Amino acid sequence: MADKINIEEIFAENVFTYATMKERLPDDVFGEFMHVVENGGELSSRAADAIAKAMKDWAVELGATHYSHWFQPLTGFTAEKHDSFISHPNKAGKMLLEFKGKELVKGEPDASSFPSGGLRATFEARGYTAWDITSPVFIKEDATGKILCIPTAFCSYKGEALDKKTPLLRSMDAINKQALRIVRLFGNTKATKVTPSVGAEQEYFLVDRERYLQRDDLVYAGRTLFGALPPKGQEMDDHYYGCIRERIGAFMKDLNVELWKLGVTAKTQHNEVAPAQHELAPIYETSNVAADHNQLVMETLKKVAGRHGLTCLLHEKPFQGVNGSGKHNNWSLTTDNGVNLLDPGETPNENIQFLLVLACIMCAVDRHADLLRQSASDVGNDHRLGADEAPPAIVSMFLGEQLEDVVMQLVETGEATHLMEGGVLETGVSTLPDLLKDATDRNRTSPFAFTGNKFEFRMVGSSDSIGDPNTILNTIVAQAFCDAADRLEAAEDFDLAVHDLIKEYMTKHQRIIFNGNGYAPEWVEEAKRRGLPNLPTMLDAVETLTTEKSIALFEKFGIFTQAELESRKDVLYETFAKTIHIEGKCMMEIAKKKLIPAIVFYAKELSEAVIAAKNAGVSDRVQRDLLERVTALLEKMQDALVLLESEMQIAEGMKDHKECALFYRDRVKVAMEALREPADALEMITDKEIWPFPTYGDLLFEV
Ligand code: ADP
Ligand code: MG
Repeated sequence: MADKINIEEIFAENVFTYATMKERLPDDVFGEFMHVVENGGELSSRAADAIAKAMKDWAVELGATHYSHWFQPLTGFTAEKHDSFISHPNKAGKMLLEFKGKELVKGEPDASSFPSGGLRATFEARGYTAWDITSPVFIKEDATGKILCIPTAFCSYKGEALDKKTPLLRSMDAINKQALRIVRLFGNTKATKVTPSVGAEQEYFLVDRERYLQRDDLVYAGRTLFGALPPKGQEMDDHYYGCIRERIGAFMKDLNVELWKLGVTAKTQHNEVAPAQHELAPIYETSNVAADHNQLVMETLKKVAGRHGLTCLLHEKPFQGVNGSGKHNNWSLTTDNGVNLLDPGETPNENIQFLLVLACIMCAVDRHADLLRQSASDVGNDHRLGADEAPPAIVSMFLGEQLEDVVMQLVETGEATHLMEGGVLETGVSTLPDLLKDATDRNRTSPFAFTGNKFEFRMVGSSDSIGDPNTILNTIVAQAFCDAADRLEAAEDFDLAVHDLIKEYMTKHQRIIFNGNGYAPEWVEEAKRRGLPNLPTMLDAVETLTTEKSIALFEKFGIFTQAELESRKDVLYETFAKTIHIEGKCMMEIAKKKLIPAIVFYAKELSEAVIAAKNAGVSDRVQRDLLERVTALLEKMQDALVLLESEMQIAEGMKDHKECALFYRDRVKVAMEALREPADALEMITDKEIWPFPTYGDLLFEV
């Protein structure tokens, strides 16, 4: 029987919540803390010490032995280094546990081996972690014991960002400032802050751990590098939203409990399209907390899977031929007095504000479609974007019929006097119609879709941090708001000026709207005609970070310096090259040590079978035919292996990260595919008993 779970009791059990702080801290200290959370600034050392002590006492009561600054270097993963609370024993030999304000607020983890793209030479390797006071402190609980984790930003000695959090926080500041200017123009004097909210839906695969361990490609590369499709794939749509199997159900139950304890609002769970694929969605929250929590979701998925004899695959494309995994990034903007700027609202007045916001977002996405695309690229996502299962690599916006119609009316006549689906509106200044929520249909093929009161950015890869995409989104929209506010604040007739601006932006940027089928090949042509950028691979997108327009954007809003951008580019090229290098080596090893020996053995058995048939005086046609086919494919495999080896050798000799990455993409990946093809064909005709590791069928259908 399922044991009883009391969500209210366990929720945020391992989080140092505001409620816990309020209980444990003197009023003035708590007040100072909340002031800094809401308005920024620095804590006094007295407050920092008091908070650190309360935090340590709370953690120790719960059984924590260590603390750690928890950060997100450019690897895309999280990093931690544990320090126990112990200090020098006193004269009587008694241990006094210590945790000071300065240890809470700042750390120096060394951490010189993390990628910095040249920002840190090893001789000046100082890296600092600084407490992100707006993201809750939590206790991580695993075999190591209980560790108090402090979410931190990671910067160099000179303050350059070495992580995914710092730029995200900077972008939140930028959009807050500019969005406030917009709401002020509409007479909202109450709001003091505008915050981007994010809900990240996480897709993942679960496979049996024993079988996983027999697949070196999954172990080293996180995806299968060989494997023929089983007789059945996802064509029946019988897994999608299907009944959750017992073993998976037990995993999900355990997962939810672990996440709830960490204060992660795990909300929705279901089976996804591909066999063995699932999804989890939390309730949306402030974007930096959502980014931290998404990291915790990914970590917890892996950890809990292990407990159930399963392995969680977060790679964007673990299996060729069935759907891969993504991460839908749902994004909206809310004022601290409760207005969602992306909510079409019910009064025409608010509609004008909404339409201005929409016009600005159209402008932002059109102006920086290249950057958005870049923000969603990682090595794994190259297998997914544009592959008929995920959005294309071309960024466009989907608004739904009704909203698109409103935009078109505004573009054509400067007024939107009616709503599709019957609504008729008054003319005058309130020329802008009331929009019905949920009057939008779905378009699963769109990379950036309006879904009622938020935009859903669907390109992000399943294993990637959502830090980058949200940094870009916030920044490009902040810029559009800033430009609009500059004009509107100076206007003599606000109503007229806002009307003109909406019309102008919508007209100028209407090419970004596409409500059709993003999977259709005609879209590629159409997008080209419209002048929209098409950046098919991760490497095509890297250079967008340092175009003149990007540098100007990032520097103006204080998100990245040019040096930071250059360093990020370098890390991306290096990561790409290293990842494909590992995949290539892994393929060679599997081919040499497992596949070729197994197939040679099979060929030997077949030739013995030919002789046996001859001796028995019966036909050897089938045996001989099979032997010929196996031998031909085996030769093809060997030739492909030799080619891959020589390509890898050339790549290894390359020094320049960019040149090397391009070589891996254009030459090594091609050689890898050439090796896979005969191997997969061999799998289809080789005795299953002899095949040296579990097949797609074993992995996908027998979880
Ligand atoms: P959909 O079916 O449109 O994808 P869901 O209600 O399932 O929408 O939500 C998907 C994700 O979007 C969830 O993580 C949810 O919390 C998040 N979400 C819902 N409303 C908003 C909003 N206003 N801003 C940001 N994220 C949101
Ligand atoms: Mg969704």
